[in-house]
Formats: sequence, C-alpha cells, structure tokens
Amino acid sequence: MRVMKFGGTSVGDAKRIAAVADIIIGSEDLRLVVVASAMSGVTNSLIAGARLAAEGQDDAYRDVKAKLLERHLLAINTLLADGPEKLEVTGYVEDRLHDFERLCRSIAVLGELTTRSLDAVASIGEHLSCPLLAAFLRQKGVRAEFVSAVQLVVTDDKFGSASPLMEPTCQRVRERLLPLLDRNIIPVVTGYVAATSTGVVSTLGRGGSDYTAAIIGACLDADEVWIWTDVDGILTADPKIVPQARPLSEISYVEAAELAYFGADVLHPKTIKPVVEKRIPLRIVNSFNPTHPGTLIVAQPSAVRQDMAAIISTKGLSMIVVAGGGDSWSPLIAARALQRLADAGIEALMFSQSFSERNLNLVVRREDQEHALRVLGREFETDLRIGIVSRLAAQGEVATVSVVGAPGQDRPGIVPQAFAALGRHGARVTLVAQAASEYNVTFVVPESQVDDVVRFIHRELGLGLNGNEVQA
Ligand code: ADP
Ligand code: ASP
Ligand code: MG
Repeated sequence: MRVMKFGGTSVGDAKRIAAVADIIIGSEDLRLVVVASAMSGVTNSLIAGARLAAEGQDDAYRDVKAKLLERHLLAINTLLADGPEKLEVTGYVEDRLHDFERLCRSIAVLGELTTRSLDAVASIGEHLSCPLLAAFLRQKGVRAEFVSAVQLVVTDDKFGSASPLMEPTCQRVRERLLPLLDRNIIPVVTGYVAATSTGVVSTLGRGGSDYTAAIIGACLDADEVWIWTDVDGILTADPKIVPQARPLSEISYVEAAELAYFGADVLHPKTIKPVVEKRIPLRIVNSFNPTHPGTLIVAQPSAVRQDMAAIISTKGLSMIVVAGGGDSWSPLIAARALQRLADAGIEALMFSQSFSERNLNLVVRREDQEHALRVLGREFETDLRIGIVSRLAAQGEVATVSVVGAPGQDRPGIVPQAFAALGRHGARVTLVAQAASEYNVTFVVPESQVDDVVRFIHRELGLGLNGNEVQA
C-alpha cells in the first residue's frame, strides 16, 4: 500500500492535474491513497480574503471568491466532459466558495478573525482541488472517491497548527479508507485539513499536506509514502537557483528532519515523525519529471550514498522590527509580540532580540506582513505612544538560507565553513540562528541577494557535480 501526496504546484491547473492522473494511473499500485493540496496560491488567497473581511473590505473578499471560482471552473471545464459528474463537481465547488463568502461575511460583521474561523476558511482550498482530481480519475476509468480529511484526522484545538491525536485518527482512517481500498477504490484525500474531536475544522499548519500523507501512511502501515513536488527531490540547493544542484539520492530520517525543519517548503517539518515510528520509507519525487528517482528517506541509508550538505532556501518572507525606545524595554515585549502573532494565526518563523539595541526582529511570511503589523500595532499602541516602543515597521523583503550538514556522518565544520563562505561573499546578514547540534545554521538575507548567496555558498562548499561550478 502506498500513499502519494501531490503538492500545490503539482495540481496547479488542468494540465498539471492531468499529469497527476497519468502518474496515478501509471503507478500500478493496487492499493493507493492519494492526498492532494489546494491549487498553488489558493490557500494564500483564502487567508488574504478572510483578513480583508475582518477589515470590513467586503468587495475584496468577493473579488477573491470570483477569481477562485473562475480558476476552478476553468480547470473543471478543461478536464471534465459535460454530464452529471461535471455538474456535481461544479456544484460542490460553488457551494464551498459560497461557504467562503458566508464565513467572510460573518467575519466582517464581527470585525474579528479568530484562528478558528481562519482554519474554516483556509481548509476550503483542498475541498476545491480534490473533488476535481477524483472526478477526473473516474472519467479516465479509475475507481476513485473524494474523501475530506475533516472526517479522518482528529486534532487538538490549537487552530492554525493543530496536532493530530493519533489513536482516534487511525481508527477513523482505517474505518473509512480500508473498505475503499478493499474495493480497489483510490481515496483522494484533502491534505492539510482536519477537525477537533467535536468536529470543528482545524488545519495542520501551512504546508501541512505532507504531514497528512505521513499520518495516513502511519495509520495504514503503508509500504511507502511518496511526496510529489516540483523538483527532483531534496537537492544540495534549490535547483531553480542552482542548476548544478545535485539530488540527494538517499538520506536518513534524522537528516531529513533537520533539513525539513529549516526548509519547511520542501518537506513539512512534522512529516518525519509518524513515518519514523513505523519505519515507513518516504520518497520525495518530481511530478514534472516522474521518471527521476528523487530522494529516498529511510532509517539507514545505503553505504554508497554520498555524505553531503544541503542548502535550503525560502523566499517570500518579511522582517518586522519592534524597536525599543527607552530603558523600559523588557523581554516581555518579545513575549507579548510572539503571543499576539500566535493568537492571530501568524507563524513567526524566526526571531531575535538584541538586548543592546533593544530591538526585536521577527521573520514572517510576506503574505502575513500587513496583518502582523496591524496585530502588533494594536498590541503596542500604548507603548508606541509613551515611547517604550519607538518604531514598529516592516524592514524589508528577506529570505532564509539554511546550510544543513549530514548529521548521520561525521561532518563537523559545516557551520564555520558556511560562515566563512558568507564572509567572503559579503552578503548583508540580518539575522542568524545556529542549531546547538552544529550541523546547521540559518541566515536571513535580503531577498534581492538570496540567489547569489545560495549559488556562492554552493560553489564554495563544493556541492556541485565534481565540485565544478561556474559562478553565475
Ligand atoms: P509543494 O507545493 O509540492 O508542497 P513546495 O513549494 O512547498 O512544494 O516545496 C518545494 C520547493 O522547495 C521547490 O520548488 C524549491 O523551490 C524549494 N527548495 C528550496 N531549497 C530546496 C532544496 N535544497 N531542495 C529541493 N527543493 C528546495
Ligand atoms: N494548501 C496548504 C498550504 O498552502 C497546505 C499545503 O499546500 O501543503 O499551506
Ligand atoms: Mg509544500
């Protein structure tokens, strides 16, 4: 039995969904569970819509709804032939987008957006993409059925980044999916979304569809879990930046956990835990290049695999600074800022506080920037007025660059090497976080410099093929 998860870019439009269907049909797995994300960018739009609703901008969320409807109808009309199946999927998508509008209207009336209502909104994207994929598979003669993970994954009530309760989850997963698998039906399950034990919709955190696949794989004792994305596995650097980057053919769970933690994009950090416990191999593969073997993640990588470091970079981030204005600055300011962001469902991906300068630097996703500023603006209104906080501002578009050594092998020195390379490059580093393990370090650099920095470090650390690399 295999679980295959397809990410947002893999189901981004009609053409991509058709390619995914070909992969599923070609997989020859007799027992297969498919987990899919929302089409790329859809979750961001839904969240943005909900936030605009909370600001009372009715036109803005209606606009989001219209655009999402148009995008999904285009995919439906391209993929599905006229008939009852198409009518049903169209109706379902319209209903979910109607739910979106209804939710936004109540958020607008209340003028308040809780993490609980944000999850209800954010969960809609997967409910738009998955029924279409299931219907398209049926049209191609494959037995497939759409299943909402709201009925499967049971979580606590930490909305925005809820944790699964494995016992009830596995019970439901087995009860609902095994009968389908026994009848050779492929369940097409929504990634990312879940519900509390009382049925309130929750989510597993941004990028959480990987996690859903791992949870389902663990519950069903899958032979393998495959994560289909848009690059040839985990590479020594993002191949969109460094064309010479090499795929890591095999890595251990420990190494993958480390890489995932610092590069949440390519693999959600919590994905490893459920599969480690059951020793289920995890494979990262490319839906744009399905014959490439990708990266295999196992307990004990084979002896022939190469021991090497990888650079994981994440763009699309913003740095927010809360600057202290006087002697009354205390670490409590940081505690309050982090708490408020968490309450608003905004993840602070990194932060640092300089005691000498009395500054708090926070890294958030770019799409969270404006909302974070509003939330912090309200929290520190008085502090700003009386001068305890002198400035609250977005400090610019940034990216993170993490250099992760292979902890399974004795490879000390990766951190000093990375620092040295960065020093030679002369990049402006605005924040640094170094893991106690000495196997990884993360730098925050201006986004405008990130491609150059990644290429430079990749070359300096000799990570390319035969260490040969021309500098761009
Ligand atoms: P999905 O939509 O399939 O979940 P993501 O965009 O979340 O995909 O994650 C995959 C992306 O991670 C790649 O497209 C790539 O740009 C980025 N990435 C950054 N560093 C690396 C790396 N070292 N190896 C592979 N991918 C990386
Ligand atoms: N759609 C969700 C997100 O954008 C989950 C995922 O893509 O894994 O965060
Ligand atoms: Mg992802």
